[in-house]
Amino acid sequence: MGRDYDVIVVGGGNAALCAALSARETCQRVLVLERAPEDEAGGNSRFTAGAMRVVYNGVEDLKRLMPDLTAEEIARTDFGTYTEDQFFDDLTRVTQFRCDPDLTEVLVKRSLDALLWMRSKGVRFAPIYGRQAFKVDGRFKFWGGLTVEAWGGGPGLVEALTGAARKNGIDVWYQARATGLIHDDSGVSGVRVKRAGRSVEVGAGAVVLAGGGFQANPEWRARYLGPNWDIAKVRGTRFNTGDVIKMALDIGAAAAGNWSGCHAVGWERNAPEFGDLAVGDAFQKHSYPFGIMLNAEGRRFVDEGADFRNYTYAKYGRVILAQPGQFAWQIFDKKVLHLLRDEYRIRQVTKVSAATLEELVGKLDDVNAAAALDEIKRYNAAVMRAVPFNPNVKDGRGTTGLAVNKSHWANTLDEPPFEAYAVTCGITFTFGGLRINTDAQVISTDGEPIPGLYAAGELVGGIFYFNYPGGSGLTNGAVFGRVAGASAARAAGSAT
Ligand SMILES: Cc1cc2nc3c(=O)[nH]c(=O)nc-3n(C[C@H](O)[C@H](O)[C@H](O)COP(=O)(O)OP(=O)(O)OC[C@H]3O[C@@H](n4cnc5c(N)ncnc54)[C@H](O)[C@@H]3O)c2cc1C
Repeated sequence: MGRDYDVIVVGGGNAALCAALSARETCQRVLVLERAPEDEAGGNSRFTAGAMRVVYNGVEDLKRLMPDLTAEEIARTDFGTYTEDQFFDDLTRVTQFRCDPDLTEVLVKRSLDALLWMRSKGVRFAPIYGRQAFKVDGRFKFWGGLTVEAWGGGPGLVEALTGAARKNGIDVWYQARATGLIHDDSGVSGVRVKRAGRSVEVGAGAVVLAGGGFQANPEWRARYLGPNWDIAKVRGTRFNTGDVIKMALDIGAAAAGNWSGCHAVGWERNAPEFGDLAVGDAFQKHSYPFGIMLNAEGRRFVDEGADFRNYTYAKYGRVILAQPGQFAWQIFDKKVLHLLRDEYRIRQVTKVSAATLEELVGKLDDVNAAAALDEIKRYNAAVMRAVPFNPNVKDGRGTTGLAVNKSHWANTLDEPPFEAYAVTCGITFTFGGLRINTDAQVISTDGEPIPGLYAAGELVGGIFYFNYPGGSGLTNGAVFGRVAGASAARAAGSAT
């Protein structure tokens, strides 16, 4: 069909906007199709805190990303390093060595360059004090490989990228749902779109798909993730229902990656079915390494301190979903309340407090109180009290002799006030998706690139399996969005 645009990008989140900005560097006419209305636009990216995992070899690299860092901040902070090897090791370890090595290499090696490029487009970054570094003996120390966040979190990130798109003359259509790809033997030449209720066909030299995973589709969740996933809460956008993945599969794209796997966390038990932009990511409850979690039977069921939360939170939603009634209570005492993240202090929280443990267990809805009290006493007795507690390092202060031991940050629960928070499983995004190569070309079931078709972000499979190092999703979208946009622009240029 005729060409209305050089490159069309399907999606309105971080990966899509990065792809559009990248394509625009060499193409004149770039169109972004965003299914959501403008006030809900930006996909999951807008729900995030904007945390981005990026390689840096020391504070000099961080200063390139964040020139606003003051000498005083640098003096009172141990930023450490996050080298290519560390990022690569984290990805391979948490995915149990299944992550695609070629795609992983691109993600790791181009992470710093991608963030510097975003900065050149107007995105600003800041260090994640508080969430990723605690003050111990007057000094902050960053841990868990996660140091940088976009200014203004997810909303700030989407605003900055959308502003850059506008400034660069990129067209953005809201309430424009891609429904299919226009395709023949020579490849993809456009997109079928339902725009404000009317179906139109738009021609393009190349198309980039960045329409997110299928986590907002309960039927696909049950089908691919398994029983009970249909009743999980969705943490982010209601618009990522897998239709962009499907339109590629329909023309012969290959599926890749961990289709039965997803990123899912402990999430406010009474949260709404989908994310709420007014609350953002604050329904999550990520300070569990400093307390314990009990299920309906009053039992602990997971090592809350197995690792820094960045390396456990994305797989513990699944563990909570597997508990009776699909919920758990997180329990803390006075000693650690000051360490709890901001999200514990929002209004929309299911929380109980008590002056004694006996009173507390009586207030835990749907929990066997007597069993819970026994469990807390057994846990208290098992804590290795001689080992000092330090939230900035894996302190080895664990428990011994329990059926489920805690490896680090084990404090006794014996100082009132006691607080407990109810959580269920919140799904973030699905891991299965489309197969791409290192140029972000979508690969067919025959193993060849589909001419004119590229993909980036959450709907790509093959990078994350079972688990995920926190802050990798946005970096993944930025790196591959940038690659996909450039590749699509090249293809569109050579097709004129
Ligand atoms: C609460 C929460 C907190 C998070 N925190 C972080 C964090 O701090 N750091 C991090 O790295 N990751 C975080 N993530 C994960 C991160 O959001 C994703 O990995 C990332 O945003 C995916 O980017 P994307 O552009 O691929 O998808 P999205 O940002 O979800 O964008 C997909 C877009 O496609 C659009 N779309 C869907 N279907 C169609 C269609 N048919 N036609 C047109 N458009 C369509 C959607 O409306 C949406 O705009 C978080 C996720 C959530 C939910």
